[in-house]
Amino acid sequence: EDDEFIGFATLPDQVHRKAVKRGFEFSFMVVGETGLGKSTLINSLFLTDLYKDRKFPNHILDNAEQTVDIERKQLEIEEKGVKVRLSVVDTPGFSEALNGEKSWQPIIDYVDRQFEQYYQAESGVNRKNIQDSRVHCCLYFISPYGHGLKPIDVFMMKKLHHKVNIIPLIAKSDTLTPKERSHLKNKVMEQIEENHINIYKFPECDSDEDEEFKQQDRELKSAIPFAVVGSNTVVEVAGKKVRGRMYQWGIVEVENPAHCDFVKLRQMLISTHMQDLKDITSDIHYENYRAEHLAEQMKQSTRERMKLKRESMLNPGKMEDTDNLIAQKDAEIQRMQEMLAKMQAQLQTNPRTPVNGT
Ligand code: GDP
Repeated sequence: EDDEFIGFATLPDQVHRKAVKRGFEFSFMVVGETGLGKSTLINSLFLTDLYKDRKFPNHILDNAEQTVDIERKQLEIEEKGVKVRLSVVDTPGFSEALNGEKSWQPIIDYVDRQFEQYYQAESGVNRKNIQDSRVHCCLYFISPYGHGLKPIDVFMMKKLHHKVNIIPLIAKSDTLTPKERSHLKNKVMEQIEENHINIYKFPECDSDEDEEFKQQDRELKSAIPFAVVGSNTVVEVAGKKVRGRMYQWGIVEVENPAHCDFVKLRQMLISTHMQDLKDITSDIHYENYRAEHLAEQMKQSTRERMKLKRESMLNPGKMEDTDNLIAQKDAEIQRMQEMLAKMQAQLQTNPRTPVNGT
């Protein structure tokens, strides 16, 4: 039997080893009105000192993006030899009062700029060590005080949903009773459907997974939008130090699944769905971007062709040169058309592509 063994069975190990050596890159962005607890939740998610065996090899690197308002924080975490380079993009909170382009345009521009950078790097010579700063996921904070999505939320989500995986969150859910929370969750999901907003669609669970996994998967899906609580303070519950918010009537524990969905969110981001979020970003959102980019280039070439045509009519003497140029443009346009058709066909056959198009 050994003779029949070629050796490719070690492939997963090889891929794994290489990936581990390189480390994983993951970026997510937080979006929502000012004061909904975005910064607090980020702290709770990753800067927690409650992990005993987690090391922070590098100090947290702060590198402010060109735009003053958008800030990217990078953080390297390591667990059992696996390195993850996390980038957290903190966006300026917007408010209904500021419902102008100023409040949302920088956010959209940021996402596009990362695609653009990746595109340039990918078309360049040194394609081996591309830094992937594309935004893999957007945590969208919904106010617990309103009665569902506000017009600005619908607007904002629609601006973002074809560019990035949106995961909706009910912010500061400790301010709601369980009944209010469940009512708000239903309402938000209804509105998302009514408005044809494409939030991140969790992949189907494979039928051969074990029952425990399936159950976990069902619970995860039914918890959307995740109701979260963040806190920068550590409180003591039954002799144990935990992150929580202290009230006169008791303590809300951030990491207690009976109190909120924080653990579910962290688990999906970090241990179960990180790769899927990256795949969807790459296979759907980035491909959409590339198709749009190409369509834009095609328009440009068509305009140039028209200009040449006009020139050739005005200067019949130089006809031959211009004819050549026009023929070149035609070939260029045709190449782009073919590429675009191929990309669109590929996108359409991807089962995870949102139904209502690009
Ligand atoms: P950001 O503007 O969205 O980044 O909001 P911050 O993180 O600065 O939080 C704004 C205020 O809300 C602060 O006073 C926080 O202590 C408080 N806060 C943050 N998260 C929560 C939460 O989950 N529940 C409650 N009740 N308050 C919160």
